[in-house]
Amino acid sequence: MSKDNSKARSRKFATDLIHFGSEIDKHTGASSVPIYQASTFHHESLANPPEFDYSRSGNPTRQALEDYIAKLEGGVRGFAFASGMAAISTTFMLLSAGDHVIVTEDVYGGTYRLLTSILSRMNIETTFVDMTDFNQVKAALQPNTKAVYIETPSNPTLKVTDIGLIAEWAKSHDLLTMLDNTFMTPYHQRPIEHGIDIVLHSATKFLGGHSDVLAGLAVVADDNLGRRLKILQNGMGTVLGVQDCWLLIRGMKTLKARMEYSETGAGRLAQWLSEHPSVTKVYYPGLHDHPGREIHERQSLGYGAVVSFDVGSGERAKQVLDKIELPLVAVSLGAVESILSYPAMMSHAAMPKEVRHQRGITDGLLRYSVGLEDIEDLIDDLSRALAQE
Ligand SMILES: *Cc1c(COP(=O)(O)O)cnc(C)c1O
Repeated sequence: MSKDNSKARSRKFATDLIHFGSEIDKHTGASSVPIYQASTFHHESLANPPEFDYSRSGNPTRQALEDYIAKLEGGVRGFAFASGMAAISTTFMLLSAGDHVIVTEDVYGGTYRLLTSILSRMNIETTFVDMTDFNQVKAALQPNTKAVYIETPSNPTLKVTDIGLIAEWAKSHDLLTMLDNTFMTPYHQRPIEHGIDIVLHSATKFLGGHSDVLAGLAVVADDNLGRRLKILQNGMGTVLGVQDCWLLIRGMKTLKARMEYSETGAGRLAQWLSEHPSVTKVYYPGLHDHPGREIHERQSLGYGAVVSFDVGSGERAKQVLDKIELPLVAVSLGAVESILSYPAMMSHAAMPKEVRHQRGITDGLLRYSVGLEDIEDLIDDLSRALAQE
């Protein structure tokens, strides 16, 4: 039986997840990608160097993962990094001192920290804007603007940016576009199809899916960007180790099954929360009254598995965190187990309080990442935790 994947273009996403090109080892027929636990590779003859020569520059296990994510995102080349932040920070090195970047205002806390306390020292300037407001994006343009950085739906208030609109505008001004697709994954949203240049992932979340591996991925839309990012990945050495590459490939195979199941639960949870008397606000793009719903439905195939909600005060939020039994109370999201986090004191603790509040990340905001438990049990558990005594 030939394992030729060259005809794979016409296949559906679920099939690509399983038959991605390296699922069968070409040398032995083994049913998983071998872990090439080697730092260096023998040169049989100097005139004819091996395909891989040193694992920072290239490793067959990492290559399999990089080709896999490139295929899923519909890009030309993928890159695997030691963490989501390694992927994001390495990609920002495409910019130079003196450049300016326009960024989604309620961006992931670590990205905010990178921009405001590290890249700022390298003279890379940032303007944070509400990306849902196109006028704000246009007004932020400066003569030295070189890039636009998008997160949609954003974290943790799930604001939706019109990807195609921003990408087209950016292109007309020669700006590089980067999009953090962690919340949606390529199963729900493929930004390259909407004109984005570079897609980024914290693969620690839904792609890995089991809270057991820290990893980052990037996918580029064209070969030139691929060459430039390759130089950075190799030059900075921010690569993912081979054991973790293997673990990530293993997790990614079940992406669709996990996302579908969790999303169904998240939809139920969001609806239930929106009817709960002590919840003042629910953020989920699948809710009828979500302001970005229509745009989201145009560019995405699903609503994801993260629901944020406001219980009105920091005191109430802490009470819920105290009483909740099923979800892990932790940072992170996108795992088999549900995870409840408290952005104000966890993921967004680095953000000054005034900035945080202005961005809707109030002291009563909780973020629920729905896992694979039975949704009835999760709702019962949250119902008990929300009950006022
Ligand atoms: C977690 C996360 C990151 C950072 O990824 P790490 O793997 O923790 O470095 C970036 N963006 C988003 C949206 C995230 O949730």
